[in-house]
Amino acid sequence: MILSVIPSFLAPCRNREYAVQWEYGGSMKKIQILGKEYKIEYVDNKTLGGNCGDCNTVKAYIRINKDITKQQQEDTLLHEVIHIISDEVTLELTEGQVGRLATILYSIGVRVHV
Ligand SMILES: [Zn+2]
Repeated sequence: MILSVIPSFLAPCRNREYAVQWEYGGSMKKIQILGKEYKIEYVDNKTLGGNCGDCNTVKAYIRINKDITKQQQEDTLLHEVIHIISDEVTLELTEGQVGRLATILYSIGVRVHV
């Protein structure tokens, strides 16, 4: 699935077996990306349709699968942030490009701190 065939603000991230502890009623995590505040929600696998995460630049949220490992959640969060950056500054990165960039950045120690 690539971003050119679906709106990037609804980009689902498939093909990765990727969760962060999240408890409903707990504190909502937030992150500022390019001056815009995004809500980070940890939701169950079913809500995400089996995807590791997704993001919506219009509604300003990132959703992460809470049923995957902490490492996968960190990787997924980085991946979703790259999607948002790509969308906000019109880089027009494909799903594959976002995936590879996130994997490489993650491998050299880049993490999104929230
Ligand atoms: Zn993706």
